[in-house]
This record gives sequence, structure tokens and C-alpha cells, in this order.
Amino acid sequence: MNLTELDKKYIANTYSRFPVEAEHGKGAFLYDKNGKEYIDLGSGIGVNAFGYCDEIWQNAVKEQLSTLSHTSNLYYTEPSVKLAKLLCERTGMKKVFFSNSGAEANECAIKAARKYAAEKKGADCFNIITLKNSFHGRTLTTLAATGQDKFHELFNPLTPGFISVSAEDIKELENAVKTEKPAAVMLECIQGEGGVIPLSAEYIKAVRRITEENDILMIIDEVQTGNGRTGKLYAYMNYGIMPDIVSTAKGLGGGLPLGTTLLGEKVENIFGFGDHGSTFGANPVCCAAALSVFERLDDGFLSEVTKKSEFLFDYFKNCKGIKSVSGMGLMIGLETVRPAKNIAAEALEKGVLVLTAKTKVRLLPPLNIDFAVLEKAAKILSEICEKEN
Ligand code: PLP
Repeated sequence: MNLTELDKKYIANTYSRFPVEAEHGKGAFLYDKNGKEYIDLGSGIGVNAFGYCDEIWQNAVKEQLSTLSHTSNLYYTEPSVKLAKLLCERTGMKKVFFSNSGAEANECAIKAARKYAAEKKGADCFNIITLKNSFHGRTLTTLAATGQDKFHELFNPLTPGFISVSAEDIKELENAVKTEKPAAVMLECIQGEGGVIPLSAEYIKAVRRITEENDILMIIDEVQTGNGRTGKLYAYMNYGIMPDIVSTAKGLGGGLPLGTTLLGEKVENIFGFGDHGSTFGANPVCCAAALSVFERLDDGFLSEVTKKSEFLFDYFKNCKGIKSVSGMGLMIGLETVRPAKNIAAEALEKGVLVLTAKTKVRLLPPLNIDFAVLEKAAKILSEICEKEN
């Protein structure tokens, strides 16, 4: 049996895979077992921030692997402390909890918010308000937070205590705040899986105002938008607000699993011993990898991300097969005339890998992708979008 057949036989059928047997990668390029080269504009769903097998990242991982690969959270380790310090210094958040994935980072955020509300207002103030069309993960709690019914079917009962309201409807949020005794409002600044839809500054600011006035925590899910993806360190920084809790993952580890929950002033000391934990959380190799990513996300680098973004927006805006371009930084959604799935399949044939989100083509290229490579991929993609059929 070949790899595809063995995969279908032995791996649970949860993913609809593209017909590519990935063998190795370098920078923005992925190679299949026949040596075919692809420009990867998905970067492992926004994970390979510096592309495949980035040298600085690889060296950091190798060095840490040969020093201390895993111990446990019973002991102090340098990579986790260094990373936590840097994250706090660059965001103004106060403390960090490390886990392994975006869903877990959100679970931690939800637990922090519930404990804060229980202590401050009473145990009945547990509801978390999220937005319709959001995506927060696949665990039963983060599925409950996800405001899309299609993910809930057949998995009920989900964790209770989640209410979803319509994005951009300030009145609906105000009403929910009055009636639902919420502990927190949780949202993505750009709904990623929901179709790369940025929320308006007016709405985000209103959420911050309403939550502050009512001492409700504001949790920003930066799993997809974080770590330089939007041209700022975190997407909320585009909106001039300061959240109470931020969750992130994906690009932070640059290819190794690391979930992170950043705790602001109100919740910095919310957890006591035994309140939360994760065996693999703060793994030294993952933290060393993340450090090598995060240290490079300086202003100069982020402004390059913005320049590449502007280039892509301009390029695709003038393409007649594309109805609209949405997103921020290098998180881009293309509303195409032809079905996104067809575009993705044809792009693959022509050596460009893209993602989809709902009805859109979604691009999450590595942040350090060369301009020339980006231009080549954009040209191939726009030609495909412009085709009649
Ligand atoms: N939150 C957001 C906004 C995401 O986009 C995702 C994954 O796509 C998650 C949470 C879940 O992250 P993970 O798959 O690492 O659990």
C-alpha cells in the first residue's frame, strides 16, 4: 500500500486531505515524494511562521534537544521563563500559562475568567459570551464557545455556559450582558475559520467599553491572528485596546506545539496551585523554538509583513476573478467568482498551496516569504481565479 492508502486505512477519517504526500520543506516551499515543488501559502495553517526548516528555529530546537528535552512543570526551566518574560514585556500582560494547542489556550482563558467571576461576583456568573461564526477549537468546551452549529451536531451535550451573539451588533451584546450574568466576552479580531472576516474597530472598542464598565473580562483569541500574522505582534494591537486575557498558539511555536494564555492585571494571580496544569505545557524544546520565533518579530520585521500584505491586497483587488479581498497582514481571504475549492485544487496542480475558509480562499503564507516568491504565487493564483471555468 502507498502512503495515501495506509493513511486511509489507519488514521481516523477527520481530515479531507489534498492529494499531496508531503516529504520535505524549505522556507516557503514544500516538496512531495516525487520532487514536485509547491509554494505553500498555508504554512501548516499559520504555524510555520518562518517557513519550513528555518535555520535559526532549527538550531534553537537542536540545541535545546541536546540539553534538556522534557522535564516537567515540577522544576524551573530557562526557555519557558525567558519566553514568558518576553511575552509579558512586549504585550503588557502580567503572567503566562503554557499548554500545547489553541484549544487548550482557550480552555485556560475560560477557566481564568470563570474563577475571576466566581470569586468577584458569585458562582452563578459563569457564562461566556462568544460571537456567531466564531471558531475557538475542538474540545467540548471550545466547541461550545464556537458559534457555529454545524460543529455541534452529534456532539451534544457540550459544556454549558456559552452564549453566542451576532458580531457587530452592540445592542445584542448589551442585552446579553444585562441578562446573562457573563464572566467574559471572547472573540477573534478576525474570524479566521469563519471566512477571514475582520471585526470593525467600532465594535471591538464597544466590546472593550462594555466589558470594562461591567467588570466582565475580555478574552481575545489570537490563536490564528497572533504572533505577527496581522503585521502587529497581536491583532488586538491594531485596535488600540488592551484585553484582559489573550490566547495564542499556531505561529508562536513556529512548527512545534505550544499554546499560550496571557493573563492581564485582573487575572494575573487568579490561579493557585493545582488550579490548572499540563504535562507537556512549557516543554523546553517548544519554548526554545517559540523564543527563536518571537525574538525576531520586531518592528522592522512586522513592517515587512505589512508591505507584503499591501502588495497582495493591491494585486488581488485588480483581479477580475476575485470579488473581494478581506483580512489583515498575511491573513487574507479571497472571495472568488469560482468556488474556492476548485481554485485550491487547480492551484495545487500549478504548484501553489492555499487554504479555504467557508467559501473563501484563505492565505496564511510564512511571514518571511520572499517578495519574489509571493509575487510568483499571486500571479499563478490570480490567473486561476480569472479563468472562465
Ligand atoms: N482558535 C482559533 C481562532 C483557531 O483558528 C483555532 C484553529 O484553527 C483554534 C482556536 C484551535 O487551535 P488548535 O487546533 O491548536 O487547538
